[in-house]
Amino acid sequence: MAGIYIHIPFCKQACHYCNFHFSTSLAMKNDFTAALLKEISLRADYLENELVETIYFGGGTPSLLAEGEILEILQSIREHFKIDAAAEITLEANPDDVDPPKLACWKNAGINRLSLGVQSFFGEDLLWMNRAHDEKQAVRSVLDAQSAGLDNISIDLIYGLPDMTDERWKKNTTTAVSLGVPHLSCYALTVEPKTALQKKIKLGKMPDIVQEDQARQFLEGIQWLEESGYQQYEISNFALRGKRSRHNSAYWQSGKYLGLGPSAHSFNGTTRQWNVAHNARYIRSLNQNELCFEIETLKPADRLNEYIMTSLRTMEGLDLQYVLRTFGPEKKNLLEKNASRYISADQMTGNDEKLILTRAGKLFADGISAALFFE
Ligand code: SF4
Repeated sequence: MAGIYIHIPFCKQACHYCNFHFSTSLAMKNDFTAALLKEISLRADYLENELVETIYFGGGTPSLLAEGEILEILQSIREHFKIDAAAEITLEANPDDVDPPKLACWKNAGINRLSLGVQSFFGEDLLWMNRAHDEKQAVRSVLDAQSAGLDNISIDLIYGLPDMTDERWKKNTTTAVSLGVPHLSCYALTVEPKTALQKKIKLGKMPDIVQEDQARQFLEGIQWLEESGYQQYEISNFALRGKRSRHNSAYWQSGKYLGLGPSAHSFNGTTRQWNVAHNARYIRSLNQNELCFEIETLKPADRLNEYIMTSLRTMEGLDLQYVLRTFGPEKKNLLEKNASRYISADQMTGNDEKLILTRAGKLFADGISAALFFE
């Protein structure tokens, strides 16, 4: 079982908090699509003919692609890889790009899941984040997608903005729930290096985030969404029964995936590689029939650390028997020993089979994982 990720490196405008790879100039979009089609053919062997069960258009803003481009990319992927007839095929879309004709084309091309970059249902939050859509488009995009029969929808929401009250955060979650969206990804606002947000905070033009507010809103969000029937199956992800993201779940289970497009990462079980995060260099290299990436071979300790980090974020937790089978008894025993202080602190539950973070432990997931890492 394998997945394919396609990175579309263009956006209409730069959201203040974003540090993903993208360009706000669309001048290279046609050349990019041609290069991407070339990359698909050059990397046809990467997944060794394994069945591809998920395809994910991420970015950037994939909904900026013309409908014909999405169709062409998917056709090429189908020609070069073995795609499961029931594959989950997700397109990330921004609400301002969503309209009934586009939805019909996306559906026609084979898209069967949408991830909508809503972020907030409040106009002032969207302005603050420098999003390209407004609150009406946020709701409209969900309703239009549902009317088009694309109702396997995930929406992204951001909490912990400096002036976001708990009431406003609650209203965002209840609006998503009342719209009948089966999947939500909820992220705390983070101040990433070299973003407009970081600069504005440094210059005193925007207030800094308040960690305590974010922690409280994280816990409130879990409670409200669980009361509404959503399972927090991963720290930032909530789904109604049967509506988990299959693509992201495969990442968290160390599944193989091929990443296409500038900055995209690939993993085949033993090596990780990442494409150049530069649109012009990506295009130039593929024009010469050459791939442009860096690669590292993962040592057993790297693989184990990645497993610790991703598995502890999931509701199933870390499988100690898997660690025993894959990395040996010494690693399993040491992990259990090191985890005991988090169990005593009620940040984790554990037995011979599993280590699972409690709600309190989820607040410190990154720190706990890092403390359990092996050299
Ligand atoms: S639309 Fe998405 S990728 Fe583009 S700048 Fe905003 S957050 Fe970043």
